[in-house]
Amino acid sequence: MAIRNIREMGDSVLNKKCKEVTEMTDRTRELIDDMFETMYEAQGVGLAAPQVGILKRIVVIDVTGEDPILLINPVILETSGEQTGGEGCLSVPGKSGIVTRPNYVKVKAYDEDLNPFVVEGTELLARAFCHEIDHLDGHLYVEKVEGELVDVEAEEEE
Ligand code: ZN
Repeated sequence: MAIRNIREMGDSVLNKKCKEVTEMTDRTRELIDDMFETMYEAQGVGLAAPQVGILKRIVVIDVTGEDPILLINPVILETSGEQTGGEGCLSVPGKSGIVTRPNYVKVKAYDEDLNPFVVEGTELLARAFCHEIDHLDGHLYVEKVEGELVDVEAEEEE
């Protein structure tokens, strides 16, 4: 496993649409391992493949630090409710902004063996699903911020 370099806003790889994963290879398994390691090292709650420069529809999420979720080719099936709150991104370091997202999100995705499954989340997990899946279509949360991006003090970062 290895820590990969996280691409930052302004890098055009973050604005591209990612391709579906159609077969699992050793190379892709290594990418997934590296994405988890990179996310934990950066103390993030989610990371999408384009953030490490790879245009594949792969997302890793862990909102508690002990509940890793891998989503391959994720699709949002259902949303409900609304939550408005602060959001940040490892590709936009030191900043946060207010974004409104659904409070409940149901996602269909594929696991590491390319078997389909459905996963649901509320609150922070629902927010993470939306944020990370947006990355796969080349979108950053800054496009959705209400008001201005604000600077985050290092000690206040989640
Ligand atoms: Zn992000």
